[in-house]
Amino acid sequence: MLTIRDLEAWLRRSAELVGEHADELTALDAAIGDADHGANMKRGMTAVVSALDAGSFETVGTLLKKTGMTLVSTVGGASGPLYGTFFMRMGAAQASATGLDGPALAGAVEAGVAGIASRGRASAGEKTMLDAWYPALRALAADPQDLAAATAAAAAAAADGRDATTPMMATKGRASYLAERSIGHTDPGAASTALILQALAEVARE
Ligand code: ADP
Ligand code: MG
Ligand code: MG
Repeated sequence: MLTIRDLEAWLRRSAELVGEHADELTALDAAIGDADHGANMKRGMTAVVSALDAGSFETVGTLLKKTGMTLVSTVGGASGPLYGTFFMRMGAAQASATGLDGPALAGAVEAGVAGIASRGRASAGEKTMLDAWYPALRALAADPQDLAAATAAAAAAAADGRDATTPMMATKGRASYLAERSIGHTDPGAASTALILQALAEVARE
């Protein structure tokens, strides 16, 4: 079972990883976007950590709603509303819960990913963060009982999904302006998603 404190630890670890990898995320975005994804995500996740420090959260719903709203208001760029929607929908799926077992986690992540797809009007294979989220969700939902194993599988699938964006041609977001010239570059949003799944696996392992 992931408790509220575990979910907070997930968000804090995500912020750490995004901070450590901010320059890489920005370099990916420099190749096919506007070179701000690392800075955007670092600013947003820093604000999330401040909100965690300032507040106290007793349900999955309140914790993740605050997280999502903070990202929407601080990240800017396409990724802010998309990640914001992810956390708000994930929280709404388990609003009054005080912890998540594996199947509840998988269901909540599924709701969050559906939120990204509807907000971004995107689907698999368009070279976006969804190309990391979808394989991660499939891995998580395939066998969710053992949280440590399921989240490790999801993190590995997200990393593979990130790498699989490299040969894709972008058809959504800023990178789509480059059309064929987006081929050969890894999607920055898929890379930040892989970090968020890595953080989840680390927290679930403890
Ligand atoms: P911006 O492109 O506005 O500068 P960011 O650089 O922070 O925003 O985020 C870019 C990332 O957002 C992309 O790498 C991609 O993963 C994701 N993204 C952009 N548009 C969409 C969309 N319509 N659906 C899903 N993800 C998207
Ligand atoms: Mg950008
Ligand atoms: Mg931008």
